[in-house]
Amino acid sequence: EAKNSGRDTYHLFSGELEKRVRVRHDMEKNLREAISREEFCLYYQPKINMRRGEITGFEALLRWPSRNIPPSDFIGVAEESGLIVPIGEWVIETAGIMLDNFSKWGYGSYSLSVNLSVRQFWTVDFIGFLKGVLSRSHFPAHRLELEITESQLMRDTIRSAHFIRELKSMGVSVSVDDFGTGYSSLAYLKNFDLDSLKIDQSFIRDLTHDPSDRLIVRAIIAMAHGMRVGVIAEGVETLEQLAFLQHEHCDELQGFLVSRPLPEEDLLPFIKNYRLVKGALFSD
Ligand code: C2E
Ligand code: MG
Ligand code: MG
Ligand code: MG
Repeated sequence: EAKNSGRDTYHLFSGELEKRVRVRHDMEKNLREAISREEFCLYYQPKINMRRGEITGFEALLRWPSRNIPPSDFIGVAEESGLIVPIGEWVIETAGIMLDNFSKWGYGSYSLSVNLSVRQFWTVDFIGFLKGVLSRSHFPAHRLELEITESQLMRDTIRSAHFIRELKSMGVSVSVDDFGTGYSSLAYLKNFDLDSLKIDQSFIRDLTHDPSDRLIVRAIIAMAHGMRVGVIAEGVETLEQLAFLQHEHCDELQGFLVSRPLPEEDLLPFIKNYRLVKGALFSD
């Protein structure tokens, strides 16, 4: 594909463009090496029940510690090169192990969310792979939650609806990430059998200053609840945002207010000390 033609036309590029092509090429090479050297790890950010302030689970977020490059700078290249497939499989395998760990530690109700790129389910037997993971582990399928961004879902709505039905028939949970930034109509959402929507953090950021963001957030919550879909607010950083979201009956939150994404070794200490955080943020 683009890679072969790229080789022939390479000498035609100049300046900025040549630099961009080279950077991309290097990134792809580095990603390949990172996979074989197992250089990736997962960080975990807690999800909190808005009413009672309890931990409901975590979201797994990919990290590349040896290079310190954020996912937003390499997921795109991984998607275009297809490397997201082996990377994504590693993420889900690792998430499965962590879900079994939660049970072993005595937190068998916790869910774990994993971000999914559409490329993963459009190019390989993703369902077969997922069945394998579920059969090798002990956690109930619904505790694994797959997050797909709204804009990726809307690229091919028929295929997406079909894919979500397959996931749901296996029992895993499905949520729409970065909701509000894509272009889905309410009518389309009805066709997807969703468990939850995650309101994009761009709407949460200015919640306390921007009346139109407040309006949008209210409307998303009302619409989701009307369809019996749960709502998670991402990027919650302040007590004012928390108060507004509680008042609007948002179901869950994620954000630096409660915790940044944590490395694996900090997970259990965080969980064990969480009642202090809870006491400071949630009055009961
Ligand atoms: P996302 O799934 O929407 O994840 C939320 C992002 O917001 C994370 O960035 C998280 O660290 C950040 N965040 C959480 N709370 C706050 C907050 O209170 N304030 C602010 N400013 N940011 C907050 P991160 O980890 O850099 O990930 C960025 C994106 O990369 C993710 O967005 C997701 O789309 C993608 N990504 C991460 N891991 C994976 C993966 O394993 N597979 C795929 N396909 N994509 C991934
Ligand atoms: Mg996500
Ligand atoms: Mg998001
Ligand atoms: Mg995002």
